[in-house]
Amino acid sequence: MEKECIFCNIIAGNTDTRFLYEDDTLVVFRDIHPHAPVHLLIVPRKHIRSINDLTPEEGGIVSRVTMVARDMAREQGVHKSGYKLLFNVERGGGQVIFHLHLHLIGGWGR
Ligand code: AMP
Ligand code: ZN
Repeated sequence: MEKECIFCNIIAGNTDTRFLYEDDTLVVFRDIHPHAPVHLLIVPRKHIRSINDLTPEEGGIVSRVTMVARDMAREQGVHKSGYKLLFNVERGGGQVIFHLHLHLIGGWGR
């Protein structure tokens, strides 16, 4: 846990953020500034800065994050209409929170 990291604090239960799903590897919560009717963040519990910092041993985390995003899309009812899965990587890629996370964005025109 990184003391200064917002997502580490959310994961540690130091905020009132509600988890839509959680397991030993990751948590899922709503983005506070949604870009679409459905905008969730799938966030590994382990503090990893970005995709650039992933070690080969951590590849399984990304696999799990992706599978849970797919399941959450179904649970949110956007799997048929379609959705985006997005990793922003470093500042030039739009990353502002340096704790790895996957955006699930969708729900237009359902
Ligand atoms: P990124 O630009 O990929 O780093 O995305 C960070 C996302 O985290 C942004 O879409 C923010 O709206 C979202 N965000 C920031 N703080 C919070 C928070 N406390 N709870 C939920 N989402 C947050
Ligand atoms: Zn963190």
